[in-house]
Amino acid sequence: MSITAGTRIAGVIGSPVTHSLSPALHNAAFGQLGLDWVYLAFDVAAGRTGAALEAMRVLGLAGLSVTMPHKESMVRLVDGLDPTAAKLRSVNTVVRDGDGLLVGHSTDGDGFLASLAAARVVVAGKAVCVLGAGGAARAICEAVARAGAARVAVVNRSAPAAELAAAIAIAAGSPFGVVGTAADIADADVVINATSVGMGSAELPCDAALLHADQVVVDIVYQPRVTELLRVAKAAGAAVVDGLGMLVHQAALQQLLWHGAQPDTAVMAAAAERELAARRQP
Ligand code: NDP
Repeated sequence: MSITAGTRIAGVIGSPVTHSLSPALHNAAFGQLGLDWVYLAFDVAAGRTGAALEAMRVLGLAGLSVTMPHKESMVRLVDGLDPTAAKLRSVNTVVRDGDGLLVGHSTDGDGFLASLAAARVVVAGKAVCVLGAGGAARAICEAVARAGAARVAVVNRSAPAAELAAAIAIAAGSPFGVVGTAADIADADVVINATSVGMGSAELPCDAALLHADQVVVDIVYQPRVTELLRVAKAAGAAVVDGLGMLVHQAALQQLLWHGAQPDTAVMAAAAERELAARRQP
């Protein structure tokens, strides 16, 4: 499809964004839906969130994805927040509403649940242990609690952040939202890495000896596709789910918010895999 004066522009703001898979995912979706839209990546330094939102307003950008380090600062800047973004104090999507107002949403939690559903992983009634308590972890705690997890234990380097994430799980309906320990990792039915540990490295976010064959281990880190955590979990006999599914599904939900059409997530996943394969070429 050729780009014209009528082409609508969406994009991601973050820093760094050079290696973002979002342009590949979203442009594949626009192509599959036959929409005259294009998606670009904008490297926006920390502290410039407001200027980027103003640019969206002035340039008439049709949709914005928001990634680190802007997810939290965006909360105070948008014209309105949807209830989930307000609860999480995190915005990963800005939507232009019918009156031209810019509204912040968070699709991370529902994207995560959709990726579990696609992998046929059930959290209802299960003991879930979330490693990490940052923006993505908080979204996951809220989502798995809302989906009926029996227990949500949060294991994180910094205790205050873990307490906040556990409180979010309780508020979302988990009777047992707690700050967890190593025992909670071993006792969990579903272990989810939502720290940034393992991103581009072979580090582990927890002791490999805690993982076993009765568990599902999910890593939301997707670069590398098979993280060290997933490798050791698989070796221990656990079922594993990688982070590409969440990336695809949270992006598909962004598309739905921007223009109302549901893209084919298989097309988006294939585009992401092609992009990752191209990057592996010498
Ligand atoms: P944040 O910066 O908000 O949170 C990072 C978390 O990782 C914190 O809990 C932090 O602990 C923990 N952490 C960082 N370094 C270490 C370390 N060396 N040892 C132990 N804990 C550590 O990031 P996000 O929540 O936004 O993202 C987390 C990861 O998830 C990133 O890798 C990101 O790319 C990925 N992600 C994937 C998505 C997907 O669609 N698959 C969507 C969103 C994120 P502390 O609180 O102590 O600082």
